[in-house]
Amino acid sequence: MREIIQQLTDILGSECVVGSDHLYNRATSYWDSSPTEAMALLRPGSTEQLSAIMKICHEHGQSVVMQGGLTGIVEGALSTPNDIIISLERMNKIESVDVLDGVAVIQAGAVLQTVQEELAAQGFLFPLDFGARGSATIGGATATNAGGLNVLRYGMMRNLVLGLEAVLADGTVMSSMNTMLKNNTGYDLKQLFIGSEGTLGVVTRVVVKLSPLTSSRQTAMLAMNSFDAVVRVLQTMRTDLAGTLSAYEVMWNNYFTAVTGEGGHVAPLARDHPFYVLAEAEGSDPEADDQRFQRLLEQAHVSGDIVDAVVPKSESERDALWAIREQFEVAQPAYLYDVSLPMKAMSSYVDKLELGLSAWRSDAECNVFGHIADGNLHIFVKPYDDGAHHADSDEIVYGCLEGLGGSISAEHGIGIEKKHWLGETRSPAEIQMMRSLKNLLDPKNVLNPGKVID
Ligand code: ZN
Repeated sequence: MREIIQQLTDILGSECVVGSDHLYNRATSYWDSSPTEAMALLRPGSTEQLSAIMKICHEHGQSVVMQGGLTGIVEGALSTPNDIIISLERMNKIESVDVLDGVAVIQAGAVLQTVQEELAAQGFLFPLDFGARGSATIGGATATNAGGLNVLRYGMMRNLVLGLEAVLADGTVMSSMNTMLKNNTGYDLKQLFIGSEGTLGVVTRVVVKLSPLTSSRQTAMLAMNSFDAVVRVLQTMRTDLAGTLSAYEVMWNNYFTAVTGEGGHVAPLARDHPFYVLAEAEGSDPEADDQRFQRLLEQAHVSGDIVDAVVPKSESERDALWAIREQFEVAQPAYLYDVSLPMKAMSSYVDKLELGLSAWRSDAECNVFGHIADGNLHIFVKPYDDGAHHADSDEIVYGCLEGLGGSISAEHGIGIEKKHWLGETRSPAEIQMMRSLKNLLDPKNVLNPGKVID
């Protein structure tokens, strides 16, 4: 065991090898503060170094777990005392920006928020965005096909990646750094690695598509009486805002009341409305965009779909509205779910879920919110009971999905936590093909073993 660490130290230099005895001050994840367990943590500074590391690990049959910002929710980056962790935190640069084509080449260890800010300074929007932006990395977002707040307009990470470079289990560097939107030349190999959660290869560099920076923004928090009204206003905004709608976050009353009031956020609207929506549009003509947005809110108010609304008058007021959606610590601890289903089935799904939970135990409750335009609901189920009733809670949440054509994981991935449930969403033939791909690319099962599939 020590021999392999010595070989790896020879490649990297001792300053880039963190021994197991020094990992005690590194938390397991954002969600779990217990110390990281692993043989060592390696910090390669280049694709070549990573390739050399993988060659040695492959020879020794040594398992490797990739770690990015550690903000994932399904234990996809969890290590054991027998694993070697690899962090690409030293590979954190934007290598190039092609301003004509709107394309950037970014190293995997770059932090999402830093990337957003550096590209904004160059006039570009990198539209992937979610609450963990300050820790999550581009490599992690690629490996997990991250989604988040702007998916309805710009798509998930998969829709933003044009090309990538990955190191395979045996150290082979697979360079597929395509920079073009159009390139129909056989199998689209990058897709194998996007969303594979580090089980098929290690993503080292990514070519991403950028959008023009927007110059106007309209935000409102809306109160509504019915899910039908929530859907009608969404459809109107999609049609009448000329494609500028970038976020439409829906909060059920059970979520809104859990995160506002005593100990939580100040409620900007009365707390007894059935639904709340945080809507945001981003365009390029401030005056016309504002007028169009205001007009739409007024029309929906007259029609009765919007019963109350608050429009922020400053950046800090806008931040306070977004905090209600993004900062939900006060509603924790809870079992966290991330399901997707067709919009037409959402309201009855939540009703069925509430019934199922109250039949399970009288003190059970759920807090529901999500990005409904892309079919995604997040659900907190309580009481948490230190995790003792996780399996019961899973049965109810996923059981209610049956027959609706949804997914047990919209954007969080499978990791370890949802592996048992994969068969609810994917067919036996699909899972067999996943196994075949894993065997082909990683026959010794050294890459993130035990995640996604067994
Ligand atoms: Zn989400």
